[in-house]
Amino acid sequence: MASYEFECHACSERFQVNAPMSEHENLKAHPPICPKCASHDTRQLVSLFSSKPASGY
Ligand SMILES: [Zn+2]
Repeated sequence: MASYEFECHACSERFQVNAPMSEHENLKAHPPICPKCASHDTRQLVSLFSSKPASGY
């Protein structure tokens, strides 16, 4: 399972989607809707290869 970060163009909300690697192509083709405003105008943020520490949990 990998987490992908998305940003909503409509409200600038950033959210993460957890999906298996096999779903990545599907996510790129059909980005998830924004959990805040339900807009379909979302895009995946460029993911960095460096692993950042999990904070805020
Ligand atoms: Zn939004």
